[in-house]
Amino acid sequence: MNKTIKQIVIGILMLAIFIPTISFAKKIKVVATLPDLASITEAVGGANVELSAICKGYQDPHYLQAKPSYARKMNNVDLLVFNGLELEIGWLPPLIDVARNPQIRPGKIGCLDCSEGIELLEVPTGKIDRSKGDIHPLGNPHYTLDPRNGIKVAETIANRLAEIDPENGDEYFRNFDNFKSMMDVKIYEWEEKAKLFKGLEIVTYHKQWEYLTNWLGLSIEGYLENRPGIPPSPRHLKSFVEMIDQRGIQILLAANYVDVSQAKKAADRSKAKLIILPTLVKGKEFIKSYTDLFDYLIEQLIENMEE
Ligand SMILES: [Zn+2]
Repeated sequence: MNKTIKQIVIGILMLAIFIPTISFAKKIKVVATLPDLASITEAVGGANVELSAICKGYQDPHYLQAKPSYARKMNNVDLLVFNGLELEIGWLPPLIDVARNPQIRPGKIGCLDCSEGIELLEVPTGKIDRSKGDIHPLGNPHYTLDPRNGIKVAETIANRLAEIDPENGDEYFRNFDNFKSMMDVKIYEWEEKAKLFKGLEIVTYHKQWEYLTNWLGLSIEGYLENRPGIPPSPRHLKSFVEMIDQRGIQILLAANYVDVSQAKKAADRSKAKLIILPTLVKGKEFIKSYTDLFDYLIEQLIENMEE
């Protein structure tokens, strides 16, 4: 056999041997409750991870309807990544029960609460009284709206992936380092832009913007909800509107998945402008990643302030 042909034949045989190994390399299957956590997991897990998310970016993560298809998604995964602080309390525990996957039960290696290690806001100090219907009984759960917390979440996920898949541990840590470096640059850029609206007083529909406003130096002066998860009474709406105008507050922020009818009423009756924004990745079609989300939020705040 001609030497070149022989080399080609050997090459083809080698490919035939190795291609199946490559294409069937076992990936770590991960399901994330929220698209933000999925985006961060994607950055850290890279090609070793097969990923899906449950809640869509335009859905309210407090009140998702548990569907059998979600339980099927969770049935054979190696890792469940969730927000915690009871954000998903209404739908995640029943799904875990139905999924019949012992790996992702609380306390198991495949069950990861991303709020671990996060510096939380609004943690109640007294006795928790659930009878009042407060949906933030363990503190404000919307911590991914501070990108610095996103870095902490990425570290938590990298550590857990390395535990589950030690063979690729170095890669997860390297991916985390790259994610952190990229985020550090973006955070600096966002902070520079946000200097334009530092100190701005706003009001919001739900108590969910605190991590963002704390980070960027905005001040939230009131909430349209009587308490988190409780719609405003007519009396509260009236005093809320009066307060907005007395204080000269110009912006009322609401997430794009809440029932905005009450917010529209408040905006119509006051001088504040209602701004409806996504709070999750994929909350709009073009928000494909965790960094896209902050690019858009900051751009929108600037745009609405300048008007
Ligand atoms: Zn909430």
